[in-house]
Formats: sequence, C-alpha cells, structure tokens
Amino acid sequence: MARKGKVVINRELCKGCYLCIRACPLKVLETDTELNASGAYPVKAVNQEKCIACGNCYEVCPDVAIEIYELEGAET
Ligand code: SF4
Ligand code: SF4
Repeated sequence: MARKGKVVINRELCKGCYLCIRACPLKVLETDTELNASGAYPVKAVNQEKCIACGNCYEVCPDVAIEIYELEGAET
C-alpha cells in the first residue's frame, strides 16, 4: 500500500520560490491567491489526499517552510 502523507506549509516562512511545486510528483501543491505578510504568494496543499510523504518538497525548500507527516502504511 502506498504511503500517505500530510504536508504542512508555514505560509509566513514561504517566500514563493515554487521549487516545491515543481518537485512534487503528484501535484499536491499550488500557489495560494492570498499574499503573506512578506508580500509573497505562498504555497498551499490543494491535493492533500494525494501526498505520499516522499519528502521531495521538504528537501528542496530553502526556507524550511514545509513539514511532512507520514500518516499510514509505514514499513516497520
Ligand atoms: S511529500 Fe512528496 S507527494 Fe507530498 S507534497 Fe511533498 S513532494 Fe508532494
Ligand atoms: S520551496 Fe519553500 S519557500 Fe519555495 S515556494 Fe515552496 S514552501 Fe515556499
């Protein structure tokens, strides 16, 4: 069974570089339509249910604005 993940974006830390959007193989992430306090359009999770906790978005984020939680299906 595929892993299920939950991705949490800190919208105030996000500077809107969108590396994470390009890195996500399942198109979980998209640009928000509301600016954050820094004047950037942050990223938000629009297809949360597709996330497989692969960690790609977390690894490419230069501002550590992303946290990934593995929900189920973890191999032990
Ligand atoms: S952990 Fe993987 S599947 Fe989930 S949002 Fe990040 S890049 Fe996409
Ligand atoms: S990689 Fe990080 S800083 Fe860049 S858009 Fe994604 S969450 Fe924001």
